[in-house]
Amino acid sequence: MEILVCVKRVPDTAENEFELNSAGNDLDRDDLVYSVNEWDNYAVEEAIQIVDDKGGSVTVITVGDDESEEVLRREMAMGADNGILLTDDAFEGSDGMGIAAILKAEIEKGSYDLILTGAQADEGAGQVGGMLAAMLDLPYASLVNKIEVVDDKTLKVGREIEGGNQEMNEISLPAVLSIQTGINEPRYVGIRGIRKVAKVEIPEKSASDLGLDAGSIGEAGAKTKRVDYFVPDLGDGAEMLEGSTEEIIEKLIEKLKANGGL
Ligand SMILES: Cc1cc2nc3c(=O)[nH]c(=O)nc-3n(C[C@H](O)[C@H](O)[C@H](O)COP(=O)(O)OP(=O)(O)OC[C@H]3O[C@@H](n4cnc5c(N)ncnc54)[C@H](O)[C@@H]3O)c2cc1C
Repeated sequence: MEILVCVKRVPDTAENEFELNSAGNDLDRDDLVYSVNEWDNYAVEEAIQIVDDKGGSVTVITVGDDESEEVLRREMAMGADNGILLTDDAFEGSDGMGIAAILKAEIEKGSYDLILTGAQADEGAGQVGGMLAAMLDLPYASLVNKIEVVDDKTLKVGREIEGGNQEMNEISLPAVLSIQTGINEPRYVGIRGIRKVAKVEIPEKSASDLGLDAGSIGEAGAKTKRVDYFVPDLGDGAEMLEGSTEEIIEKLIEKLKANGGL
C-alpha cells in the first residue's frame, strides 16, 4: 500500500513559554523550539505499521520553510521511506484551504492508496484533512483511532464519537483519514536513526513546480483572516492552582472530591 502522511512543524508545547507577538495577532515565534505535530507522529507510526504488515511505502510531506525539512527527517528516521518538502515564499500566509490546495497539487502527481493527516495541528483548525479529501474527491473519515486493512481496496476504520463511544466503518480506497492520538504508541527515534537519514536527498517543490497560481495560495489567496489572538480573561469563579505538578494534581483531586466530582 502506498501511503502519504501530511506532517506539520509546530512549536513544541512542552519546550516553550508562549507569549503574544507585538501585533497581538499570533504567538511570538522568535526563538521557539519546534517539533513534529503530535497527531502527525501517530499517523506516521500507523502508516509504518501498515506497510510493515502489508508491504508498500510511506512518504511524508510538509508545506513549510527550509527548517521544516527537520520534521521530514525525523519521521524518516522513524521509518518513513521518502520525504517531500513543499516550499516557496508564495506559500507564506496560506490559510487551511491554501495548505490543502498546495498538498493536493503534489498528491495528484503521485499515486497513493491512503492519505493520512493528523486530526488537528497547532492552530487547532482540524480542517486540512477534510478539505484535502473534498478537493481530491476522495472518501474521508475523521478522528480515526483504529485501522484494519480488509484488502487492497477496503479498510475498516474506528472512530471516536461523543461520550467515549466507538463506531466502525468500512471505507473504500483511495481515501483520506485524519488520525486521532492514542491510535498506537509511536516508536522512539534514536540518534542513530536520525544520523542514518541525515544525508538522504529530500526533493523540494515550489509553486511553479506544482503549477500553482501564486494568487490562489499564500496571503493573496487566503479567504480566512486572523484578526485577533488573545488569552481570555479568567471568569469570576476561576481559581488557578499553584505548585509543582504533583501538588497541583493533589489539590485538584481534593477539590473534585469536595465538590462531588469524584
Ligand atoms: C490568514 C491566515 C494566515 C496564516 N499564515 C500562516 C503562515 O504564514 N505560516 C503558517 O505556518 N501558518 C499560517 N497560518 C496557519 C495555517 O493556515 C494553518 O497551519 C493551517 O490552516 C492548518 O491549520 P491547523 O494548523 O489548525 O491544521 P489542521 O487543519 O488542524 O491540521 C490537520 C492536519 O493537516 C495537516 N497539515 C496542516 N498543516 C500542514 C502543513 N503545513 N503541511 C503538511 N500538512 C499539514 C497535518 O496532517 C495536520 O495534522 C495562517 C492561517 C490564516 C487563517
